[in-house]
Amino acid sequence: MNSPLWQAVLGEVELSISKANYLTWFKNTRLVQQSDELIVIGVPNIFIKQQLENKFNPMVSDILKRNGVSPERIEYKIVAIDTKSNEEPEPILNQPKPVQHRTQAVNGISHSYRQGLNEKYTFDNFIVGSANELAFAACQSIAANPGKKYNPLLLYGGVGIGKTHLIQGVGNAILANNPGAKVLYITTEQFVQEFVESLRFRKTTEFANHYRSADVLIVDDIQFIAGKEKIQEEFFHTFNTLHQANKQIIISADRLPKDIPTLEERLQSRFAWGMSIDMQNPDFETRCAILQSKAQNNDTTLPNDVVDYLATNINTNVRELEGALNQLLAFCEMRGLTPNLDITVSVLGSTRSRPKHLSAKQIIERTAKHFQIPIEDILGPKRDKDIVMPRQIAMYMLRSELHLSFPKIAHELGRKDHTTAIHSVEKISKESQIDASLRNAISEIKERLYA
Ligand code: ADP
Ligand code: MG
Repeated sequence: MNSPLWQAVLGEVELSISKANYLTWFKNTRLVQQSDELIVIGVPNIFIKQQLENKFNPMVSDILKRNGVSPERIEYKIVAIDTKSNEEPEPILNQPKPVQHRTQAVNGISHSYRQGLNEKYTFDNFIVGSANELAFAACQSIAANPGKKYNPLLLYGGVGIGKTHLIQGVGNAILANNPGAKVLYITTEQFVQEFVESLRFRKTTEFANHYRSADVLIVDDIQFIAGKEKIQEEFFHTFNTLHQANKQIIISADRLPKDIPTLEERLQSRFAWGMSIDMQNPDFETRCAILQSKAQNNDTTLPNDVVDYLATNINTNVRELEGALNQLLAFCEMRGLTPNLDITVSVLGSTRSRPKHLSAKQIIERTAKHFQIPIEDILGPKRDKDIVMPRQIAMYMLRSELHLSFPKIAHELGRKDHTTAIHSVEKISKESQIDASLRNAISEIKERLYA
């Protein structure tokens, strides 16, 4: 077993990045040394060491801090790690101290004025395409003139499509223009946690003052404030104070505020005061550009067919795309190979292999069953809403799971016009990005199909 501290860190890492990224970079790491000055993390090879140092260190450091540990340095050291057994690793030199809590932040008012921002998220390394150009333009305009236009700015959309990247990018750009600005970035979960602790330690005034003194307040994933009345109230006052003083507020959410259940109406209406922009999963061309740019950052150029394969097969979101690319690069790096299509298919194909026997009929039947409607209805002419939606989902799944052509999809569902199939597939893939219940329905159907 790993040390409890590192277990806790890994648990949080796992929640913060894609599964592929987690398995590639973190799975075989462990804590080998801990003191006030220094934390040493054991890693299996040089490639993972470099990635952790260059890419994930800020995140590791943040998570450690949240677990009450703030060493002066974090080092990554290559150690022999037996990946097959789960046995006790070499003894940890200094046992972790009991975890103290992150009230420190509130108690000591130790926040810096670039709280929470990660320098790796910049406008420069954000690839712009039709799915995000509006959001990008708004963010640039805010960076040039914080508090003047679009206040608040709300970016909303599904997971892994670049919301955090962009809103942090604004913060970093504002600081670059004006290093004295007080830019605070916080996830809603942290906001909630700090607020709860400020109540517990009777530091609510400090808490309020801290956030109300920001020049720019960036709050990520505001949907997590749902159902928390006291915190909504606190946030409402923070919002008003900042807005009245023309301080910039930037918020992200996984859907429109009006669709967040138990979000107070007064907050909903305030979030609508400024500009709300919908972000989508990037289209194929943008996915290709993202892959090329990320490969370049790793000093690799990918052959076109590899880019094509990845961008075609990983069309869920940018985070997954990044994870797959990292998995491929790690595989090649460790074996001294140059990425090509065969390697890509064998590395990524294996995790995505589908049973061959799956038929269109099974997909349609399973979808009908899930929505408890007769299969004849799905295949028939009825246009009732509770039948149209399952029909569209079935079309979407025929595309995503079997890669059928649109005319073929239309045919399978007894439609003459293949544009219906195109429209349905587009609609479902778009809506599933913002509608969690739709996503759940799709993944439940898939689970049953592949069970
Ligand atoms: P979200 O907050 O919407 O869940 P993130 O901002 O965390 O998504 O994005 C997931 C990952 O994908 C991040 O590593 C981010 O840098 C990257 N990413 C997303 N969109 C883009 C883009 N357009 N260009 C470059 N990288 C992107
Ligand atoms: Mg995010």
